[in-house]
Amino acid sequence: LFISFEGGEGAGKSTVLHKIETKLKAHHVNVLATREPGGNIIGEKIREIILDPIHTEMDMRTEALLYAASRRQHLVEKVLPALKTGTVVLCDRFVDSSLVYQGGARGIGIEEVRELNHFATDGLLPDLTLYFDIDPKEGLARIATNNGREFNRLDQESLSFHQEVRETYVHLQQQEPERIHTIDASGTVEEVVEATWKEIHPFLVK
Ligand code: C5P
Repeated sequence: LFISFEGGEGAGKSTVLHKIETKLKAHHVNVLATREPGGNIIGEKIREIILDPIHTEMDMRTEALLYAASRRQHLVEKVLPALKTGTVVLCDRFVDSSLVYQGGARGIGIEEVRELNHFATDGLLPDLTLYFDIDPKEGLARIATNNGREFNRLDQESLSFHQEVRETYVHLQQQEPERIHTIDASGTVEEVVEATWKEIHPFLVK
């Protein structure tokens, strides 16, 4: 069982992922909580190139290719071997993040990025994708609060980017309602964990 966790800034998906990991372990389920590049050496090196602020001249398609390459290596080294042994894999972001960030928000085009990722993953998609939906204003405010600062003008300026991210996620969900399930991430952590558990549970007993 392969489950990906998706969402914009401040949706709390990573917090929820780790609570679900703990809950699954308590139910004696073998579980792997991971995120790209997930400690694989090749993937880490690729990630370093993507995130290095020196590379301001990085072309958007180059970035998309590097994300896809890192994804490929993580998939082959971590995800596929775990799935083979029946382990439940919880992955913090997967293909949909690239469709949303590189394809939608950065403007390459969803279908172009989908094609690229299809090559990288050999068409493998998660059995279930949980999209943690939150109003970007609220999400950014959460991050600001966690960092002990006010929601400021800089955050306001990037608001339209995050709104684009949300719109693209909603669009993908509408395209693939069977795979992508939306979780209202505006509640408390406990409420969101509860809603997430309700989505995952039917897949565990399948
Ligand atoms: O998962 P997390 O919220 O920590 O992701 C950090 C950021 O990495 C995202 O908000 C996004 O800006 C960026 N990202 C991206 N393209 C991806 C995955 C992540 O631009 N494919």
